[in-house]
Amino acid sequence: MMKTLFLQPPSFDGFDGGAGSRYQARREIKSFWYPTWLAQPAAMVPGSRLIDAPPARMGMGPILEDVMNRDLVVIHTSTPSFANDVKVAEQLKAANPKLIIGFVGAKVAVQPTESLNGGAAIDFVARNEFDFTIKEIAEGRDFAEVDGISYRNAAGVIVHNKDRAVLEDMDQLPFVTDVYKRDLRIEDYFIGYLLHPYVSLYTGRGCKSRCTFCLWPQTVGGHRYRVRSPEHVAAEIRQAKIDFPQVREFFFDDDTFTDNLPRAEAIARELGKLGVTWSCNAKANVPRSTLKILKENGLRLLLVGYESGNQQILHNIKKGMLVTTAEQFTKDCHELGVKIHGTFILGLPGETRETIQETIEFATRINPHTIQVSLAAPYPGTALYKQALENGWLDVEHAELIDESGIQIAPLNYPHLGHAEIFANVEVFYKKFYFRAPKIAAIVGEMVVSPQMMVRRLREGMEFFQFLRERKQVAA
Ligand code: SF4
Repeated sequence: MMKTLFLQPPSFDGFDGGAGSRYQARREIKSFWYPTWLAQPAAMVPGSRLIDAPPARMGMGPILEDVMNRDLVVIHTSTPSFANDVKVAEQLKAANPKLIIGFVGAKVAVQPTESLNGGAAIDFVARNEFDFTIKEIAEGRDFAEVDGISYRNAAGVIVHNKDRAVLEDMDQLPFVTDVYKRDLRIEDYFIGYLLHPYVSLYTGRGCKSRCTFCLWPQTVGGHRYRVRSPEHVAAEIRQAKIDFPQVREFFFDDDTFTDNLPRAEAIARELGKLGVTWSCNAKANVPRSTLKILKENGLRLLLVGYESGNQQILHNIKKGMLVTTAEQFTKDCHELGVKIHGTFILGLPGETRETIQETIEFATRINPHTIQVSLAAPYPGTALYKQALENGWLDVEHAELIDESGIQIAPLNYPHLGHAEIFANVEVFYKKFYFRAPKIAAIVGEMVVSPQMMVRRLREGMEFFQFLRERKQVAA
């Protein structure tokens, strides 16, 4: 077996762009997702190591030292971080010219030729789900025999091997939490709306919906929800409880954990027996009867992508959601005591000044516990990207989606609504949502009953205002 390093390279300070982040950018409050997509193959390669540099605040020094002893480095990349990741690969190759370097992630999955042409230090890229692909490469198989990779042959010609078969038996995947325990410090991982420390993992891949902006289902995950059995999930959580007694919450980061309701209920019942607090991603259409079962078995919070309060925009992005359904679902959650972190996107096709106001009013009316407001980001490989190119909406100078300090920019520009105005409205949205007397009272109430929450919210408040200041500088 090759001596293998799985690497999320160093990046901007506080850059949440790792192998578990759907939208790579610095957040308004410092946050880091687990590098689950890298931990999965790392769990299949004995003797490997996973370095997730940004949350560990690790610079290149220890990484260059580490690779002196390696045969293979697998780097997770993304559209925003690609240029930086190529520079890292060049440094690694200069330090150890014998290294084989492979890139994985949605960016190289959809742009294999461009990616290989963009970096001479890259020996191969993995196009599909890459768990078994990387295992075979680490076993020393000839590139020509490994499905799902693109690489340069001896003559320097780029070769695309046939696609890897989609993984159906998800229980074949070993536990990622074993790698977290071996290589990560779980206290380094923060998400503003999750209890700290938290642990996140996937119980399945793929999403049945076809939202035009959404990266993973259109690139690496697909539109069938392929799942692990409830027993396999419960076994991992049972072990993780022992390995991480300090964990306060488990998060299931499947695209849409509630895509299969009977299974979600079955897993919830297993989790109920284990007595853990948990949360997950959900679509805003979960029936009240299911919500009740989930809540009774430890569900604390749902992460819900509302995206917009305007029905036409929801149609335009193929969300498959009625505003009225989302309202009823949110009311049910409030009544059952399930907290919601609601996410919204400004600048989607059909956005106008009026729809922005409509979405802000919608958010304040349904009142999720916390919110996140993002800018529409056309990632290569998505229908939104294609649409943006065809219609001339994409500001090509900003196609990397972030600025030099890692802050998300508004790359979509409409004739009736410029990107500067879309960008400015993110701050307006946050202020209108949070600076209301009832919301302020609720936040203060939380802080009063919990000293830990007090410290955390004060820190987050400072980070939030700092973030807004930096955004203003970006816009200036
Ligand atoms: S429902 Fe959520 S995860 Fe599924 S495609 Fe839409 S945005 Fe993506």
